[in-house]
Amino acid sequence: MLVYCKKCSNLLDNVTHMDLTKIDICICEKCGYRNKILDISYKNDISAPLSNLFPHKFEIDGIVCQSMESFIQSLRVKDKNIQRQICEKYSGYMAYKMRLSLSDWRIDGFVYWQGEKIDRNSKKYTDLISRAYDCLFENDVFRYCLNKYKDHKLIHSIGNIFKSESLLTEFEYIEQLERLIEKL
Ligand SMILES: [Zn+2]
Repeated sequence: MLVYCKKCSNLLDNVTHMDLTKIDICICEKCGYRNKILDISYKNDISAPLSNLFPHKFEIDGIVCQSMESFIQSLRVKDKNIQRQICEKYSGYMAYKMRLSLSDWRIDGFVYWQGEKIDRNSKKYTDLISRAYDCLFENDVFRYCLNKYKDHKLIHSIGNIFKSESLLTEFEYIEQLERLIEKL
């Protein structure tokens, strides 16, 4: 896990382990900035509200999603009706738990949104994910939580780093949150 200084982007090589029960402080050897590192996990009471599994509702294309995880897992499903039901009825945690029962997008690298077939490795996919996060940003409570940690260095150490294995890599996830923080 590589962590860079929030102020000068220097690699913080003194980050050895993360303690999920608290916010770690890591002082940058280059610029001296005191990085407050928040490792986002649904299992951690401090950072859970920034997790995709947390039930911050949002609406995209007329569909009210229970959480970002509900939306992302629903992308596995070709059937529009089933997809809508996963978004609207299943919490992020339940959507995550049912992911292996849904189609395995990794076989051909394609996902679906409202009947449209989308390449996981395309700008169209990235744009869809960005649009979903923009919709989530309309949620007052999510924005409130994001604002609380806007000066923290956000990481997601349990995230997958490979695009071929994950619908949202650690980098893509943190990049979205940092983009929204800029909008605050
Ligand atoms: Zn620095």
